[in-house]
Amino acid sequence: MDTPPIQRLRDAIRDIPDFPKPGIVFKDITPILADPQLFKLSIDGFVEATRPLRVDKIIGIDARGFVFGAAVAYALGVGFVPIRKKGKLPFQCESAAYQLEYGEAVVEIHVDAIKPGERVVIIDDLLATGGTAAAASLLVRQMGAVLLEAQFLVELGFLNGAIRLGPTPIRSFLKF
Ligand code: AMP
Repeated sequence: MDTPPIQRLRDAIRDIPDFPKPGIVFKDITPILADPQLFKLSIDGFVEATRPLRVDKIIGIDARGFVFGAAVAYALGVGFVPIRKKGKLPFQCESAAYQLEYGEAVVEIHVDAIKPGERVVIIDDLLATGGTAAAASLLVRQMGAVLLEAQFLVELGFLNGAIRLGPTPIRSFLKF
C-alpha cells in the first residue's frame, strides 16, 4: 500500500540533535522543500485550510515562514507580509520581544503592512514554545487585524506552545 501523504511529509523531516545549541533537537524541513511532490503537498495543506477563511493577507514569520507563507499567498491571490527579526525591515516598525526555545528575540512588522479590519493568518514552519507566534499575534492584533488562525507545518506538542497563543486558534499538520 502507498504511504499516506501526511506520513510522507513526517518521514521527510530530519532530526538534527544539538542544533543550534546542545539539548535542542532541530526539526529540519528542508528535505520537504527540496522534493517537488512534498513541497506541493505541504503548500496544498495550508491553502485548503486557509481558502475558506477568506483572508486578505498571509503573515509569514522569519525565515521559514516566508517560504510557506509566500507560496500560500500566491496560491490564494492575496498579499504577503513578513514579520522579521529586529533590524531587518527597512521602514518604520512595530515590535514585540519574546522568549525562544533557544534564546531571546525581538520581532518587527512594518507599521503600514496591515490595515485595521484586514483578515489575516500567521504561517510558520514550526511551533515550539510559542513565543515567536505569540509575539507575531500581538503585533498583528495591535495593528487592528482580525487574526483568524496561526498555522504551522510542525507542532512540538510537548512544549505546549499552543497555550502561549491564548485565544488564537492553532492549526498544525504534523505533531511530534
Ligand atoms: P518558538 O518561539 O519557541 O515557538 O520557536 C519557533 C521558531 O523557532 C520557529 O520560527 C521555528 O522555525 C524555530 N524553531 C524553534 N525550535 C525549533 C526546533 N526544535 N526545530 C526547528 N525549528 C525550531
